[in-house]
Amino acid sequence: MRFEISKVLDAIEGRVCTDPSLARAVVDLAEVIRYQDLDGGRPASLLRLGMVIDALSRELEEDSVQVYAVVHRALLSDADLTSNERMVVRRWADDGLVEVLDNPGDRMLEVADLLGLPVLSRVRFDGLRGRFPWLVEQPGRVVAPVPGSGGPVFIAHVGGGDKPVAGKRSPAGVKLLARQWRCPESGCALFGGGGGGGAFADLARVQHSPAGQPPPALRNGVPTCPRHGARLGDGGPRPRTEVLAVRIGGLVRRRFVLTEEQPILVGRAPERDGGIMLGQWLNDEARRWISRSHVQLELRVGEVIVTDVSTNGSGIRPGGSMTESERLPLAPQQSRVLAENDMVELYPGVQVGRAEELPTGAPFTPTSVMAEAPTMAIRLPRP
Ligand SMILES: [Zn+2]
Repeated sequence: MRFEISKVLDAIEGRVCTDPSLARAVVDLAEVIRYQDLDGGRPASLLRLGMVIDALSRELEEDSVQVYAVVHRALLSDADLTSNERMVVRRWADDGLVEVLDNPGDRMLEVADLLGLPVLSRVRFDGLRGRFPWLVEQPGRVVAPVPGSGGPVFIAHVGGGDKPVAGKRSPAGVKLLARQWRCPESGCALFGGGGGGGAFADLARVQHSPAGQPPPALRNGVPTCPRHGARLGDGGPRPRTEVLAVRIGGLVRRRFVLTEEQPILVGRAPERDGGIMLGQWLNDEARRWISRSHVQLELRVGEVIVTDVSTNGSGIRPGGSMTESERLPLAPQQSRVLAENDMVELYPGVQVGRAEELPTGAPFTPTSVMAEAPTMAIRLPRP
């Protein structure tokens, strides 16, 4: 059972990030893990983060959604968590997957403001409505996770409703995210500091290539490292990115960020690091058709270029057209620039395109991050 719980925590680990292009909502981890009424279990449980992420997936009708977690430093030694859970949170902190702060203050709302994300919280933030007017002006920007029949559901603090709603990045957010930043603190997991770094330095660098850096905090208008309180250095323009998504059977299964730093392979089970593996979502026929590495995607001077690297070839759906006569073949080794709304189709129903142009269209049952959890772990009986 312990092993099973570890697997659930690993699954949850894939759903926390501080990448502005991938995070879909902001949470305060110290708050979420204490929603005892979600499962009637221990005072604090990291599994509740998984329950809330699952609820977000259901609401957004999209698989593999990720959240931006702000974490109070005290949580790393919180005696209400198991030693295994504390170890996991520490690892997330070291890897820069979550933002660990001595004094989170209103950082969660700042992140939501800069990135235009909804906040999943039961706190009402009444005192902060002057600074963040969207708290009242945009119903659904703050939703409270509460117990529901099939797991947590959301209730908006303002205007009723039950959908977390994204807004736009604030003007300050747009400005901050146009640059890359450097923390003077050695081994900073968030803003890849001045050399050094711990055991996870390599991984942290992967997580936080300049394109995926979190938004700096603004203190008196100065870009600041939220972790170290240090003024950040300007490292030049942030590299261009394009957020792509995989849609299988009408459902967006996963988003990923393409940068100019390196191409990404998509296929049944790409061998190269950073590849997008589709195998777990494919039926037998699709698994036979789709090569281990099937297409390669590159970002060059702002253009997305797709190259077929498969045995069987692919197709292009120009403008996202689902009309069969308009589908263009993409033969093995052939390349093509993906125009706006174009999708590359690896196999009928298995498509890759720009995330904002790939809506989910089918009735949706997301894959739970909790799927590996034994029922006992999630729904502990009341003592
Ligand atoms: Zn720092």
